[in-house]
Formats: sequence, C-alpha cells, structure tokens
Amino acid sequence: MAKKNKKFYLSTALPYVNESPHAGWALEIIQTDVIARRHRLLGEDVFFLTGTDENSLKNVRAAEEEGLNVKELVDRNAKKFYELKKALNLSFDDFIRTTEKRHIKGAQKLWLVCKKDIYKKTYGGLYCVGCEEFYKESELKNGLCPEHQTKPELVEEENYFFRLFKYQNQLKKIIKEDRVKIIPETRKNEILSFLNSGLEDICISRSAERGRGWGIPVPGDPTQVQWTWFDALSNYINALGYGENDKNFQDWWQKNENKLHIIGKGILRFHAIYWLAILLSAKLAIPKTIFVHGYLTSGGQKMSKSLGNIIDPFELVKKYGTDTVRYFLLREIPSTEDGDFTYEKFEARYNSDLASGLGNLVARVMTVAENLKSQIPNLKSTYQNSTFKKEIDNTWKKYEKALDEFKFNEALISVWDLISFCDRYIEKERPWEKSKKQSLIIYNLLVTLADIALMLQPFLPESSDKIFDQLGIKPTEKIREFKIKKGKPLFPRI
Ligand SMILES: [Zn+2]
Repeated sequence: MAKKNKKFYLSTALPYVNESPHAGWALEIIQTDVIARRHRLLGEDVFFLTGTDENSLKNVRAAEEEGLNVKELVDRNAKKFYELKKALNLSFDDFIRTTEKRHIKGAQKLWLVCKKDIYKKTYGGLYCVGCEEFYKESELKNGLCPEHQTKPELVEEENYFFRLFKYQNQLKKIIKEDRVKIIPETRKNEILSFLNSGLEDICISRSAERGRGWGIPVPGDPTQVQWTWFDALSNYINALGYGENDKNFQDWWQKNENKLHIIGKGILRFHAIYWLAILLSAKLAIPKTIFVHGYLTSGGQKMSKSLGNIIDPFELVKKYGTDTVRYFLLREIPSTEDGDFTYEKFEARYNSDLASGLGNLVARVMTVAENLKSQIPNLKSTYQNSTFKKEIDNTWKKYEKALDEFKFNEALISVWDLISFCDRYIEKERPWEKSKKQSLIIYNLLVTLADIALMLQPFLPESSDKIFDQLGIKPTEKIREFKIKKGKPLFPRI
C-alpha cells in the first residue's frame, strides 16, 4: 500500500468584499502562500483555502451607496479578490464565497448542532458595523471603535445568544496548554488576559430587517439572520465538506492534526475564542495553530479611503512585477508586527536586494559560466568545496528555523547573507580572469545558486524557476549537471 502523505490544511481569514483588495490583504495571502508552497515542497498533501466574506452589513451599506443591489456588489468585488491568484501567483486550492450553497448549508447545520447553547433575549448594545461586533462602553476609545475610530450604533432588538461564558475555563486551558498554539506569544498572552477578564455570552443573530434581508437565515426563524461572524467562521469547515461531504470533512478536519489559521491581529478574539467555543459546542475538532500577523500601514498610517493612501496590489504588480511585490511584503514587514509601505522603501528594496543583489549575482555568474560552458567541470557528485558546503548548510538551518517560526523576513535575510557571501567570493577570486581554477570557482557559484533558487521557491516562485532554467537543471535533481543558458536580467534596474 502506498504511504499516505501527511495532510496540511491552512486558511486565510475571509476578507469583506465591500471594497477592492488592498495591499494589506495581499500581505496575509502571500504569507499563507509561502507556507502552503513550503509544505508542498516537503511532500505533504496541502489544502490551502481562501475566499470572501459576503454576508456582512458592510456590503449592504456599500451597495446602497453605489446604488447597486447587494448581490451585484459582492459578485463584482469577489471577482477582484479571486483575480489576485494570477496577479500575485497564489497557489490556493479552493476559494469559498459565503454566499455559496455549500457554505449556507454548513452554517445552518452548525447552528443546529450548537442549538443547546443558543437562546433568545432582548438586548441593547453598541454595534460597530465595520467590525460587525458589539462593544462594551469600556472597550471604546473616547466613545469610538478602537479598530475604526467610528461611533458605534445603538442597537436594540430581540436576538439569539450563544453561551460563550460556559466555555471560559475550557478555553483558558486549551490556550494555556498550547493545544491551540497562538503565534506569536504576545498574542497568546493577549487572549489569556481577555479570558481572565471574564467572558459574556455573545449575540449571534440580527433581525432580518436590520440586515435588509441580507444574510443566512437562522434555521426555523425567518425573522432573524445569523450574525456575520457566526456564519463566516464556519467557512473553514464548510469548504472541507462539513455540510455535504462528510468523508472529506473527516479526513481534512476531524482526523487531521495539522490545521493552521492565518489571521490579522484585529480578529484574533473571533478565532481564538468565538470560533473555538463554537467548535467545542458542536463537539468538533479544534485547529492546531493560529498565526497572527500585524498590519501593513501606508506612509505610517492605517490604509483608508478617506486618507487616500490605499495601495492597490494590482497596480504594484503591473509596475514592478509579481515577485517584487511578494519580496517586499515578506522581507520588509516583520511577520508578526506592523510594517510600513512607502514607494521609497519599495524601490529601495527593489534596487538593493533584487536588482543589485539577487539579479546581479545571477547575471555575473551566468555571464562567465556561459563563456566557460564546455570547461565547467564534470565534478557532479565527487567534488564539493567545504567552505561552500558549510555556508550552504548553515543557511539551510537558519532558513528552516525561521520558516518553522513563520519569520519570513528572517528566512529571506539568511538567503541574502548567502548571496553576499557569493559576492565577496567573486570579488576575491575574480572568476572572469583566466586561470587554472576559473572553472572551479564558477562551479562553486553555480552550486550555490542552485541552492539559493531552491530556498526561493516558496517566496519568489517565478524567479526561482528562471534561475533553474538558466542553470539548466530541475529543482528536484540531486546530481546537478548544469546546462548553462544565460537569460534576461531577473530584475532590471528601475
Ligand atoms: Zn469597528
């Protein structure tokens, strides 16, 4: 019997589709893409899920402003999110929209399964439509939503509630013991302190009237629709077949240990508390890891329409290329902290790291290698320069460790250290000068380039392919017989 590969499931959060995707979203989905590609390279069966959250009140409001019906608005914008696949060279396996039948079916099933923990009561509270969440007075900053700096609306109606309080101690234990590991540690502590401050039951529906009829109906009560988050969170299991394909759901969720959610810091509570409590209530398996990234700011401020500082990922790709955008976001932004986008920083990274760094090294080595083609030693498996071997091995170690910790920037720093090592070697050995060791020098550099290309596979897939093409080898080949064919510059100067 064939050995079954290890399964690895990972998801992004689902963005709201009230506006077009911006570069902050690109950051999350590119980070997720790197993890997905890496696990595929490790030989695992990977399922990478993304999609769009379409049932929120925000969409209703946005459609009203544009004079569209809500379905038209979400169809148009969801398409733009899907189109990032090509623009950013993403490798997701599925894209779930929360207006799809499979999702609605799953969200309603989950509601019914949690029914013992659901009750109805009249409630008044402060609701932020931006967050789709009720806030306590004490959580507001100067009376404004801490996330949106807008004034929440006073809402009073009869709604369904979920017994969140009931799961408080169980959740504490799960998080404390890392049964769901929250990365980084600071976010874990943030959730623990929130749990220690005491949970209250949460409102999980709104009147169909307030939602203008938009949303997933509460089973058995057509006057109510599900609260956006209750429905949206269930996408993580609905895409695996929770509502309609039990075999797949069992294999990928219930029996699979390796489940990772990647989210932004603003929605940690929804994932580490609400989502886990819903799963506990439904007696379903819980995820293994939640990785929390920071925000991308633009010129030091939060990206927003009113500030006019939204960075459009499609425009960036058009102007600078896919791998440049991927590189900047992965290298410049420390993966668990906030980072800033400016065009100056973007172009500086391009020029120093890509054009002068990687691109220049490939071009220099290839130019000499092409001239020496026939003299490149046929050393393949026997020759190995010990200094290079040590340097390459050390780089792999640092690289793997950084990736295990989701520190994308540090993984890239280790690759670029190897690039600098090669640059220094070139300056010292001057491979363009005719000498007895000339072909050996180039051979050392070619071997190292092949490893650099391997390391770049999850990060810059297109550039990695181009390097392998120029080397004339395949990434999977253990014995490297180079068939040099110099190509165009990888990153021409701008
Ligand atoms: Zn808000």
